[in-house]
Amino acid sequence: MGSFRDVRVLDIKFLEESHVIANYLIPSKDGPILVETGPETAFEHLKEAIAKEGYHWKDVRHVLLTHIHFDHAGAAWKFAENGAKIYVHPKGLPHLHQPEKLWNSAKRIYKEDMDRLWGEIAPIAKNLLVPLTDKQEIILGGVPFITHYTPGHAIHHNAYQMDKVVFTGDVAGVKINAGPVVPPCPPPDIDLMAWKRSIGRLKSLHPDRLYLAHFGAVDRPDQHLGALKNRLDDWAAWIEPYFKAGEDSEEVVPKFVKYTQDQLREEGVSEQDVQRYEKGNPSFMSVTGLMRYWKLKSQGRLE
Ligand SMILES: [Zn+2]
Repeated sequence: MGSFRDVRVLDIKFLEESHVIANYLIPSKDGPILVETGPETAFEHLKEAIAKEGYHWKDVRHVLLTHIHFDHAGAAWKFAENGAKIYVHPKGLPHLHQPEKLWNSAKRIYKEDMDRLWGEIAPIAKNLLVPLTDKQEIILGGVPFITHYTPGHAIHHNAYQMDKVVFTGDVAGVKINAGPVVPPCPPPDIDLMAWKRSIGRLKSLHPDRLYLAHFGAVDRPDQHLGALKNRLDDWAAWIEPYFKAGEDSEEVVPKFVKYTQDQLREEGVSEQDVQRYEKGNPSFMSVTGLMRYWKLKSQGRLE
């Protein structure tokens, strides 16, 4: 088997913007396999993207979720209503069956912006939810996948290896077009040590290619993952003094936005792509997530 099996990149035009959220479609003997569904607000675009590849969305029998954040899993219930199986880490699974807690926790971050960003959510029947844990191997319609439990960004995060490529969700960072890779750091699960171990796991697979949710294929995984680790350290170190000084997250956000957007601009990222980075990985979220990381660390609740 060659290392590049047929993988279709689906641009689901999140908030009407291209190159922000990618889902992936892999043809199989049991219908096309979907990796990630994106949020419910982009479901119409997802349907169109699947149709462009010559399938109907109702042909999808298997959906692999890297994790349950709404921008990855928000439309999974639509596929489940049509009878598709939804594969997810066991720590995320209960929250898809009973999404109230997930919704409320996201509402604390996004407040009155929930509907515009994420749309509707509905429970998924237990019999359609399939737990996948570390190093578990499954074959879907003849296509073999290996699960890699990869916490750090989220405690319920899996990456999925297929031959020599890996679907990395958010654990391999966000990289838009020719820009640099950056770490998405939303609350409440950011854990630097765990994330670095997950980066190490991905490196140890010596993949030929990574497929990021934000956005697309990366063909030099080793260099990419090294750069991600550096940027994660850089952002965490930048936040630490503000945490120590007891500053309020809201006051730190504009400074962090300037710091990170200047980083992007210095690396030649266009203004349109700076905005794409912000849509795929909002800065205010990373401030809250990293402030929380330092707080838990100072309390001895993280390594
Ligand atoms: Zn995420």
